[in-house]
Amino acid sequence: MQFEYEDIKFKQEKEGVNAIFLEIFSFKIKNEELERLGTYSVNKGKIVFKTNINERKFGELINKGFNSLTNLTNGKPTTYIHKNSGIPLMGNVSFGIIDRGTNILEIKPITSCNLDCVFCSVDENRRIRDFVVEADYLIEEINKLIAYKECNEMEIHVGCQGEPLRYSKLTYLIKKLRHNKAIKRVSMDTNATFLTENKIDELINAGFTRLNISLNAIDPVLATKMAGKPYQVTNILNAIKYVASKNIEVVVAPVIVKGLNDEELENIVKFAKNLNKKQKAPLLGVQKYLYYPKGKKLKEEEWDPFFERLKRLEKKHTIRLILKETDFSVIKTKELPKPFKKKEIIEAEVKCEGRLKNEKIAVAQNRTISFTGPAKSKAKLKITRIKHNIYKASIN
Ligand code: SF4
Repeated sequence: MQFEYEDIKFKQEKEGVNAIFLEIFSFKIKNEELERLGTYSVNKGKIVFKTNINERKFGELINKGFNSLTNLTNGKPTTYIHKNSGIPLMGNVSFGIIDRGTNILEIKPITSCNLDCVFCSVDENRRIRDFVVEADYLIEEINKLIAYKECNEMEIHVGCQGEPLRYSKLTYLIKKLRHNKAIKRVSMDTNATFLTENKIDELINAGFTRLNISLNAIDPVLATKMAGKPYQVTNILNAIKYVASKNIEVVVAPVIVKGLNDEELENIVKFAKNLNKKQKAPLLGVQKYLYYPKGKKLKEEEWDPFFERLKRLEKKHTIRLILKETDFSVIKTKELPKPFKKKEIIEAEVKCEGRLKNEKIAVAQNRTISFTGPAKSKAKLKITRIKHNIYKASIN
């Protein structure tokens, strides 16, 4: 009897079997736990038992393993959110789906990043847990939401707390979503460090129509300083050029930090302006560094000098740098009803830990609600913040 899974590859190690899940996550099963079920061996990623064993007991071992799932790239405990997890995909800012009442749905299949940018609004160093979402669960929920919205001009935007290319099911996810004819565009924010020519072709074939690529400096020393980790800017420039040579939009997206890379913006503009003369969408999406309480702390620049700089460069290089909502074909649509009101007191079931220290994720009325508090199975909460069906609460 053998156990083989598409997304789990088993590997025999000294103490037990290592189960590699979605390429970058893992959990361990002790040798003796498997031996209790029968004589086994591990062969080409499968677990093979000499005789028939109790399947239910094997399933229990796998489920128990998932409770100690770890991200191999950073050692963080990880929660797998799947159809049977009892955790809805609406309500949290770090995973699932964000519906801002428009034709653009932001989706977040994974958390975790390979860079440590000095301006990062998430600051992975403060996040003690990762999330990864089952692709089929996301597909099901996105399709339901699109049917509810009754909009045939939908865009799916992959915008993670981290780097979406760490999600090994990304191509699968987008390919499947593209079966929904209401989805006309698919875009993604990426730091491009995993973008080889083959990967870019794979993403285009899957159905991506635009890639927003962060590029914060052309100068290699400054680019590495901005990224906070070893970083090969030449590879990123080549990836951007390759994307631009294909039938897909590319948006070069620098984050400008006054005193750090503001002088470099002109070089980025010079690089981007000739990428694809035929592209209707703007070639650059310049952002100003903004301070978020849970992100990296730097000094914020005022808006006026930031826009002055953009206007000056727009004029000098005859390129548009100040963008409007209309540049991204945003259409207002129905938004899912919000089941709670601010200050409402609710009872919720506490499901798992959140990404921040002491943060918990509770569930009520098919929404998740984040709060800080002790680990209990139920909580009485007071809703403190509601934005686009994202909920925060405090213990009441
Ligand atoms: S690539 Fe994005 S998520 Fe990753 S550290 Fe940089 S800003 Fe943060």
